Amino acid sequence: MKSMKKAVTGIVSLLMTLCLTGCSLDYSALRHHNENEGAESVSMTAETQEQFQEELSAFEITALQRELAADNKAGYPVLDAGRGNPNWINGKVRHAFTRLMDFATSECELVFVEGDMAGHGKKEGIGDRFDAFMDETDETDKFLIDAVEHCVKDLDMDKDELLFEFANGITGDYYPSPSRCLTHTEAILNEFLVSALFNGNEPENGTDIFPTEGGSAAMSYIFHTLNHNRLLKPGDKIAIATPIFTPYLEIPDVNDYGLVSVNVASDEEHNWDIDTAELNKLKDKEIKAFFLVNPSNPASHALSPATLDALEEVVSGNPDLIILTDDVYGTFVEGFESVYSRLPYQTILVYSFSKLYGATGWRTGLIAMSRDNVCDRLLSELSAEDQKALYNEYAIAVTDPSSMKFIERLTADSRSIGLYHTSGLSTPSQIFMDIMALSHTTYGRDEYIELANDTVNERYITLMDALGIAKDLSGENAEYYTIVDINAMIEDQYGSDFARWRIDNISDLDFLNDLAEKKGVVLMYGPGFEAPEGSVRISLANLNTQDYVEIAERIRELLEEYYVKFEEEALGADA
Ligand SMILES: *Cc1c(COP(=O)(O)O)cnc(C)c1O
Repeated sequence: MKSMKKAVTGIVSLLMTLCLTGCSLDYSALRHHNENEGAESVSMTAETQEQFQEELSAFEITALQRELAADNKAGYPVLDAGRGNPNWINGKVRHAFTRLMDFATSECELVFVEGDMAGHGKKEGIGDRFDAFMDETDETDKFLIDAVEHCVKDLDMDKDELLFEFANGITGDYYPSPSRCLTHTEAILNEFLVSALFNGNEPENGTDIFPTEGGSAAMSYIFHTLNHNRLLKPGDKIAIATPIFTPYLEIPDVNDYGLVSVNVASDEEHNWDIDTAELNKLKDKEIKAFFLVNPSNPASHALSPATLDALEEVVSGNPDLIILTDDVYGTFVEGFESVYSRLPYQTILVYSFSKLYGATGWRTGLIAMSRDNVCDRLLSELSAEDQKALYNEYAIAVTDPSSMKFIERLTADSRSIGLYHTSGLSTPSQIFMDIMALSHTTYGRDEYIELANDTVNERYITLMDALGIAKDLSGENAEYYTIVDINAMIEDQYGSDFARWRIDNISDLDFLNDLAEKKGVVLMYGPGFEAPEGSVRISLANLNTQDYVEIAERIRELLEEYYVKFEEEALGADA
């Protein structure tokens, strides 16, 4: 009872701080509960409180803590390990983009120049002009020369055709055509996926790709089109691998899709891998779709090869299951293999360039699907009535809607269907994706990925050592984030009496608020991701190595302040 009162006080103080700081959060969730609870709002039930915390998502809570941290009592520089935005970029791909843009613009100016106006570039002889333009002794130019040579030699491309796509694409002087994905771009991105995410295994039926404005857009397009095409109907059950990136927890109900979600949980005890009992939930044919982030966010672990085997086995018994895998962190695990390359027929893949290349502002991601896939089969098995309704809708965009593939429907739905012909990702963004992909595939070894992995690995080791917590150095750990069980850490290092006192007297939210307000440290609230009570997510992507030592020291300072209070109370009780 006491712990609940304290927790409620935590909520009330959070509310007050929200009002005081006047940050631009959506208060509707808060009002909703006040109306329901009326004058008794202070004695919220545990259930209401849980709902409350879920509605105030982890990201909103962090927004508040960011404000508290800005003028923290200790006057410390703010250390914000809440963000997943990396603090690095890939410089080479930016330089290459600029050079390619210069080349493409010079091509246009060859056609005509009048004031600031120039023509559309020409295809004939573009390969020779590229060779003449680029300087082999310049590092950036050399990369572009090698990348083009790689495409010609290893991907069997015509040099003029390729460079014409690059030049037009980067200039952005035509609508994307084909609208779903530029032709050479699709082949370049395919090679990237096979190497970076499929562990070299090429799915036998080939892969269609739809480049999107980042992974977030990919997710919302997929949810929308699954729903719009009646592959997920209100009341359908979907399984979600938890803990998970919060948008996946919010989309199923917030967008009124009316889906019923079932958690397929992983925990620290199982090294954040999914055990057989949880995986077996997917055998239920009532479950229409399974969403996972792999390697996961927040736990940052990839499914082990044994779990992939077990998943294949389980899914063979549920052949209509649609799997959606978000592999944004795949490149942070050496030898990573996607669920997509194991189960291409049943899987929709989402990838984003945001994290590895430090390109969150570019909005570059993609959706990939096997040319032979379950969604197309399920479309053909819809009721005559559903098929007719969809036929009429898509008829404004294509001549034969009944054979329109799911991935084309995704493309059409990403605008409104009537605007299908002007859909597709901006062409300069597609060419930038090519450049990022080619920086990985052109040379046998990708030193940039190694560097990114070493970078987060060093930060992870530093943080865990500074916190005095055992490290998990298994191959499945992407180390992009880590979940720290603060309760376990306190119990282990300060004893169980203090740990219990802390739980009874200081809620997890109050702990995070104190950390921000008193010590200027921002971490994320674990339960917001369906991670356990008492856990926090720490990003290893956005601060420098020494900052993680400092974070550990400030956590310790705060715990020691709590400890003084605990001793006072314990002594008071004895007296
Ligand atoms: C960061 C992140 C993304 C990236 O989304 P973008 O829109 O491409 O920035 C996607 N999925 C997960 C799980 C992420 O953590």
